[in-house]
Amino acid sequence: LVSRLQPFSSTIFAEMTALAVRSGAVNLGQGFPDSDGPPAMLEAAKDALFGGANQYPPGPGRPELRAAIARHRARYGVDYDPDGEILVTAGATEAIAASLLSLTEPGDEVIVIEPYYDSYAAAVALAGASRRTVSLVEDDTGRFALDPGAVRAAITPRTRAILVNSPHNPTGTVFTRAELEALAALCVEHDLIAITDEVYEHLVFDGGEHIPLATLPGMRSRTVSISSAGKSFNCTGWKIGWVCATPELVSAVKASKQFMTFVSGGPLQPAVAYALDHELEWVEGLRQSLAAKRDRLSAGLADAGFSVRPCAGTYFVCADIRPLGFTDATELAFQLPERAGVAAVPVKAFTDRPEGWDHLLRFAFCKQDDVLDEGVARLRNLG
Ligand code: PMP
Ligand code: GLN
Repeated sequence: LVSRLQPFSSTIFAEMTALAVRSGAVNLGQGFPDSDGPPAMLEAAKDALFGGANQYPPGPGRPELRAAIARHRARYGVDYDPDGEILVTAGATEAIAASLLSLTEPGDEVIVIEPYYDSYAAAVALAGASRRTVSLVEDDTGRFALDPGAVRAAITPRTRAILVNSPHNPTGTVFTRAELEALAALCVEHDLIAITDEVYEHLVFDGGEHIPLATLPGMRSRTVSISSAGKSFNCTGWKIGWVCATPELVSAVKASKQFMTFVSGGPLQPAVAYALDHELEWVEGLRQSLAAKRDRLSAGLADAGFSVRPCAGTYFVCADIRPLGFTDATELAFQLPERAGVAAVPVKAFTDRPEGWDHLLRFAFCKQDDVLDEGVARLRNLG
């Protein structure tokens, strides 16, 4: 393995899931739902599969999917031309990697907000760029907030781009308009490209709002907006994602994307188009059900002795292990499947620096209620 990829030989999700499977643990580690998406979307995929949609789709994605993505984005008040400003990718993961490969030169710096989704560091390394991490800061409510001063301090003449994930995995933070405005101002001032990971765009709770960075002044022209179907429609295995940006940025991203996968998910693309156009009510039900699951798991973890942080969106809650007498969440995460029969992910796995993140475990609540209850019951005797 080449040296720039050596730190990334296996993902924490694969490791924890393998451990969970081996030990029969309840898997609250890897974030994937254990129920299916809207039945009519599954039917649409079946119809496409048996209707002959089994050859290469067009390079930018099937036209009906690009049109549906444009209509969906327009709901936020930002318009994209389906021909030239939208590119369908193999999940958000490929979109992120292709964006970095196409838009950063070796030696460029990319600002990454920490904790960060694991593929970001690997994709920056693949591109030969270097990452500058900026930590979120816990406020006195336990919310992990953006510190714009720290972002400013990380910008250098070599900074080319910033990766922004909101709703945020793993903390569950949803950036406020003020936080996004501060980021936007820095991007404009320093002429940075923003690459936004919005895969949890629909999973925002308690009346909160997802605000795409591209909708803020000065950002439409410099933002590569990325999302995918997996989290909105319970189909994480479909790997249908997309990029929305200016024609220049989209054609740049396409230049690397076309040589990684060329295209993918032919018969799934019309089904996702159908879901974006017709299943947002279903997504609203999912959102409400996930909010209730967040409450259920948070209450259970608190009952088991953890100190649980607030979560405004995503699939995840973070829990402090110190009240139970533990200090190192990584050590605990590796013991937990054997010791308690539950798998979780240490937040430290999403950071460059352990300080401040050592004591947090991430638990996924995108599971059936009886799975969450069983997980909590098993954790009750941990302390
Ligand atoms: N970004 C974040 C923040 C994620 O949690 C995930 C994992 N689901 C992805 C990207 C990957 O998305 P996809 O499966 O569409 O590649
Ligand atoms: N996004 C999911 C998580 O954060 C897992 C994705 C993966 O396994 N790569 O848990």
